[in-house]
Amino acid sequence: MWDHEADVVIVGYGGAGAAAALSAIEAGAKVLVLEKNPAGGGNTKYSGGSLRTYLDVDKASDYIESLCDGATERDVIETFVRESSRNLEWVKKMGGEIAPRPTPPSFPHSLPVAFPGTRGAEGIGPRARVKGAGEDAGIDLWGLLVRKVEGAGIKILCSSPAKQLLVEKGTGVTGVIAAGVERDIRVRARGGVILTCGGFEYDQTMHLNYLGQKYFGLCNPGNTGDGIRLAGEVGADLWHMNGVAASLGYKFPEFEFGIRSSMPAAGFLYVDRNGKRFMDETGTDAHFMWAPTSYVDTKTLERTRIPSYVIFDEDTRMRGPVGVTGQGRVSDVHQWSRDNSVEVRKGWIRAADGIADLARQINIRPDILQATVAQYNLQSVGGYDPEFGRAADTLVPLGRAPYYAMELWPCLFNTQGGPKRNARAQVLDVHGNPIKRLYSAGELGSLWHRNYPGAGNVSEALAFGRIAGRNAAGEQRVGA
Ligand SMILES: Cc1cc2nc3c(=O)[nH]c(=O)nc-3n(C[C@H](O)[C@H](O)[C@H](O)COP(=O)(O)OP(=O)(O)OC[C@H]3O[C@@H](n4cnc5c(N)ncnc54)[C@H](O)[C@@H]3O)c2cc1C
Repeated sequence: MWDHEADVVIVGYGGAGAAAALSAIEAGAKVLVLEKNPAGGGNTKYSGGSLRTYLDVDKASDYIESLCDGATERDVIETFVRESSRNLEWVKKMGGEIAPRPTPPSFPHSLPVAFPGTRGAEGIGPRARVKGAGEDAGIDLWGLLVRKVEGAGIKILCSSPAKQLLVEKGTGVTGVIAAGVERDIRVRARGGVILTCGGFEYDQTMHLNYLGQKYFGLCNPGNTGDGIRLAGEVGADLWHMNGVAASLGYKFPEFEFGIRSSMPAAGFLYVDRNGKRFMDETGTDAHFMWAPTSYVDTKTLERTRIPSYVIFDEDTRMRGPVGVTGQGRVSDVHQWSRDNSVEVRKGWIRAADGIADLARQINIRPDILQATVAQYNLQSVGGYDPEFGRAADTLVPLGRAPYYAMELWPCLFNTQGGPKRNARAQVLDVHGNPIKRLYSAGELGSLWHRNYPGAGNVSEALAFGRIAGRNAAGEQRVGA
């Protein structure tokens, strides 16, 4: 009947899956993890690994409640703030070292506290990271989790995507069918199943249906929304399906994933496909850059900001890489050159001695782009941007040639939607009742909605991973 049996079966071996496995085993359960890819890590491994700290539970909960626009219950938020406030202590207990994570001096950046005018923002603390050899900390956090999971002898079946949840009437979810290497395998879950299989960053049809436009993934190609279908089949309600954390990035024919844009100095501006500026380029949090790109021209129905273009000068080119290669999948295959010269030679960055020539290369009317740059330069010299309110100290005029341009596309950190869960990490059905023995954690059905402030998803993956692991381990065993 069964190929494998465990008390708690976890679907997806990223940050949430690892945290769930560790807490379930600590609570005395026998654990088995199913992972779709040949190796685990998911988005977690490719991330910046930033963990949010909180200074005051009530104020931080007010802040998150406001950002979620009433789409997340207060008790779920408070549980999250309380449990994720234990993240640093938990990491240290596992032998990890914590380092502060300063805001990098590049644009777009993750603001110290995004949306600082929001009620309760004073309850939000700084970001921290797991210290390690890596420049970005996702890989270091993941390294720590893997050492603990493997050290605990937890069984991981890689290349084994879950295909179906098995339900026994009256009892709840009691197993999983997964695709094995040669045939399907049946896995018995005597206590419960925890879905931690990530979002739908790599399903552009789902992007169109739920997010309203296509995005490019920066991250794990295994995240194709499987958990949404698995939970939907057993009657789960869905929430936050239009929630997204996305920045701007580059798309090159060599790769099927995006590379994050990161301007090393303030001498740059963004223009749309008509050659016009459309936002404060330096004052918006990196995770919220999707919002300006979603603009639709009401007369032509064209999405005139996809792609957009970043325009910069020689001084900005010399100041540092304009692409982030320490995060996301690109870190496996390309190291961006310090002065961007390799990327200019590859043709990834267009170059010209004058703005008009540059405009022709990106199919924008030269007179319009010239006027836009001239206006931007004039406002920069005056230190005043009346239309978009860009801060005076970031208004740096474009100076000497050559000038450069790159296409900008909306690129996903992650999606937030999925099965709705309660504060015990139980998946809820469409009537608000827990589906027996089914739990979830992480970005699959995250508590976050559209106004995502950064450093909340990894914190949530660890916090709700632990909650789900504990509670699933506490279920009465079936067939024992
Ligand atoms: C470039 C980048 C930087 C980021 N930086 C940060 C940051 O600094 N701080 C922060 O809070 N957030 C950050 N994020 C977001 C954050 O990394 C994720 O939201 C978080 O790691 C999600 O963890 P998870 O365990 O829920 O999912 P994941 O880590 O993605 O794990 C899901 C796993 O499930 C597997 N899976 C999928 N389908 C199946 C199936 N059918 N069966 C079995 N397994 C399956 C996947 O292959 C994957 O291994 C970043 C994201 C990116 C891309």
